[in-house]
Amino acid sequence: EQAPPAASTGHPKGLYLLFATEMWERFSYYGMRAVLVLFLTKAMMMDKAFASKFYGGYTSLVYLTPLIGGYISDRYWGNRRSILTGGLLMALGQFTLFASASNYGPASTHELSHWLLYLGLGTMIVGNGFFKPNISSMVGSLYSPADTRKDAAYTIFYMGINLGSFLGNTITSLIGDKDGHPELFRWAFLACGIAMVLGTLVFNWGKGKYLHTPEGEQVGETPVHSGGVKGIFALLPVLLALVLGTLWLDSAKFPTIAPLLGLAVVGIAFMIFTDKSLTGADVQRVLVIFIVSFFVVFFWAAFEQAPASLTFFADEQMNRTIFGYELPASIFQNLNAIFVVAGAPLMAMVWTALGRRKAEPASPVKMAMGLALLAAGYLVMCFGVHNLMPGVKVSMFFLVALYFLHSAGELCLSPIGLSLVNKLAPLKFSSLLMAVWFLANAAANYLAGYMSSLYPDPKSTAPAPVLLGFHITNLYDFFLVFVVSAAVAAILLFVISSKL
Ligand code: GLN
Repeated sequence: EQAPPAASTGHPKGLYLLFATEMWERFSYYGMRAVLVLFLTKAMMMDKAFASKFYGGYTSLVYLTPLIGGYISDRYWGNRRSILTGGLLMALGQFTLFASASNYGPASTHELSHWLLYLGLGTMIVGNGFFKPNISSMVGSLYSPADTRKDAAYTIFYMGINLGSFLGNTITSLIGDKDGHPELFRWAFLACGIAMVLGTLVFNWGKGKYLHTPEGEQVGETPVHSGGVKGIFALLPVLLALVLGTLWLDSAKFPTIAPLLGLAVVGIAFMIFTDKSLTGADVQRVLVIFIVSFFVVFFWAAFEQAPASLTFFADEQMNRTIFGYELPASIFQNLNAIFVVAGAPLMAMVWTALGRRKAEPASPVKMAMGLALLAAGYLVMCFGVHNLMPGVKVSMFFLVALYFLHSAGELCLSPIGLSLVNKLAPLKFSSLLMAVWFLANAAANYLAGYMSSLYPDPKSTAPAPVLLGFHITNLYDFFLVFVVSAAVAAILLFVISSKL
């Protein structure tokens, strides 16, 4: 007689293996990103506007490659091989950044450092494409399709993401970000490289033992699809965007990849909507995924100011001294991870309690709430910087409040969105539609970099940046842009939510 498959309480051990792997990988991604703009401005001598666009270009490309990585793993490599390859590439990328930053000196702006910077970031962009979509989808594969523990599994996994972000951000801020010591940034990158090696080793050690379905079948060893050439419609524009984006990362031509992103989305839509096997209801569900993905662009574009304009703000405009000790500017981004780890179980309890009373809001309503909370965070900030005298620094209370509200918003929008995409996508297009979600992130991160480049620099004598005819003359104007855009998106999404 066969034993019943896995205990119904608790989670399979494989979840904790994926948790640990993703924790180390996010340590590496967020740890590096936390100090990136400061490294670019203080060691690489880029100006803030340029560094902002560079940051947006990089993170945008990071979210573009999962479409390619997902395609290769679905058809050729399987999840495991893709994760190992991606992990090794990302570790290599971090060590390359370490080499770039070690070159820092009086000749810091010299060619070799710059080339190594591009090479390192490029390697990580490709590595992430193999890693991220595969680790996210493996979580669900450990359970049988109807298992109700899946939502909880993704919540636990999301906590792993943020625990990694917390550890990475703390370590890189403390060892790499010290005012007046740009030569220290390299230790941050080295730590991130080591973290990525650890993640890859842990995964390699446990994959055979723990990654199986409840029935004992190995997960992610073989590809799940075969054939299907239509994917090329979506892949080609993305590949092109990737190549051009990388070549143009440091030039004004970078925005040219935006239409290619649009083309990729059209390609994906074409593939899906011309598929004869889909029912009318399937088509409507897919439409909902596209619409919701459009709205989240406004969320992430404002949210991902954290390592860019909000870090410039913490660096220059905020009083960072606590008990006589001056905190590094980059460490404040940590608040997001702390609030998410603490808040995720609370939020899950709130939804369950509301669910029991049949009062749980529908997913699009939760996401509209996320956007509203994001607007509220920037509104608090507007109060903080209103009529600010030159040379006066703002209390850190405002940034802490902003991160609190943003994290609450993230919890309403991000895990909910992931599971919405999972639930609505027809099985045969599940990875492709997950890639649509990531493409929304790519567009949003690009926009985030662009928006941060409009950060009004009090020291600059250049004319005030202009956005759609609106002059951004001070920090109040700058933060107000996010209040308005997020609030408008929240209201629109709320209005159409019952239709969705
Ligand atoms: N913080 C989450 C992660 O790192 C979600 C990021 C996103 O979708 N932009 O996976």
